[in-house]
Amino acid sequence: MSMTTSTNVDLLVVGTGSAAGAVAYKCRSAGWTVTVIDSRPFGGTCQLRGCDPKKVLVGGAELVDWDRRMQSNGVPAPGLTIDWPDLMRFKRTFTDPVPEQNERSFASAGIGMLHGRARFVDRTTLRVDDQTITGRYVVIAGGARRATLNIPGEEHLTTSTQFLEPDRLPGQIVFVGGGYIAFEFAHTTAIALEPGRGKFALAIALGIVLLLFALIVNAALGVASGAPRPESDSLGKNQRGA
Ligand SMILES: Cc1cc2nc3c(=O)[nH]c(=O)nc-3n(C[C@H](O)[C@H](O)[C@H](O)COP(=O)(O)OP(=O)(O)OC[C@H]3O[C@@H](n4cnc5c(N)ncnc54)[C@H](O)[C@@H]3O)c2cc1C
Repeated sequence: MSMTTSTNVDLLVVGTGSAAGAVAYKCRSAGWTVTVIDSRPFGGTCQLRGCDPKKVLVGGAELVDWDRRMQSNGVPAPGLTIDWPDLMRFKRTFTDPVPEQNERSFASAGIGMLHGRARFVDRTTLRVDDQTITGRYVVIAGGARRATLNIPGEEHLTTSTQFLEPDRLPGQIVFVGGGYIAFEFAHTTAIALEPGRGKFALAIALGIVLLLFALIVNAALGVASGAPRPESDSLGKNQRGA
C-alpha cells in the first residue's frame, strides 16, 4: 500500500528549465519556500535538448565554414572537416553533467525538488506520484511541444531532440520548417556531410514547400468542412523540439 505525503510551500514550479529557474531562485532568495518539479532530467530544453547542445554542433560547423571561405583569402590551412561522432561526444560533455549540476544548485539554494509528472488536484495543489504538494502560488513553466502539422505520415518525422542524439548522420535529411533552428541544423548538416564523406542532399526548401502545402491543404479542408482549425502549440515560437 502506498503512503501519500502532503506538503505546503510558498511556491511550486512545474519545470526546471530556464523559465522555472528564473522564478524559483528569485523567490527562494526572497525567503520563500520553493519546490520545483520535473518529469525529465533537471535542466529543461535549452540546456539539455536545445540551445546549448545545438551551439556546440553549430560552433563546429562555423569553424569549418570559416576555414573553407578563407582558403584562398590568405589562410591557406589544410581543409578542416567534422568528425560527427567526436563532435557528439564533445556535445555530451556539456549536456551530461547538467541534471546533476542543476540538482546541486537547487539543493544549495534550499529549493525542494520532486521528480515526476505533476498533475493538478485543485487550483494550487499538485500530485506527483504518491505525493501531494500545495503552493500558495503555482508557476507552470512546462515548456512547449512541437507543432502538430496535420499531414499524413507525420508520425514518421523525427524531432530536433532526436537530431541532437545520433552518432551517425544519415546521408540525406529533409527539414520540415524554415525557422532559425532548421537553418542552423541544415547548415551544420551540410558542413558535416561535405562532398567526399557522404551522399548529400539538403532539402530545406523542399521541407518548407511541403509544410506550406500541408498547411494550405489543412486550411482548405477546415474551411470546406466548417471544422475548427487545430491550434498549433507555442512550440513554433521558440522551436519546440521535444
Ligand atoms: C533544438 C532547439 C534549439 C534552440 N535554440 C535556442 C537558441 O539558440 N536560443 C534561444 O533563445 N532559444 C532556443 N531554443 C528555445 C529554448 O530552448 C526554449 O525557449 C527554452 O528552453 C524554454 O524554456 P522553458 O523553461 O520555458 O521550458 P523547458 O526548458 O522546455 O522546460 C520545461 C520543463 O517542464 C517539464 N514539464 C512539463 N510538463 C511537466 C509536468 N506536467 N510535470 C513535470 N514536469 C513537466 C519538462 O520535462 C521540461 O523539463 C531552442 C529550442 C530547441 C528545441
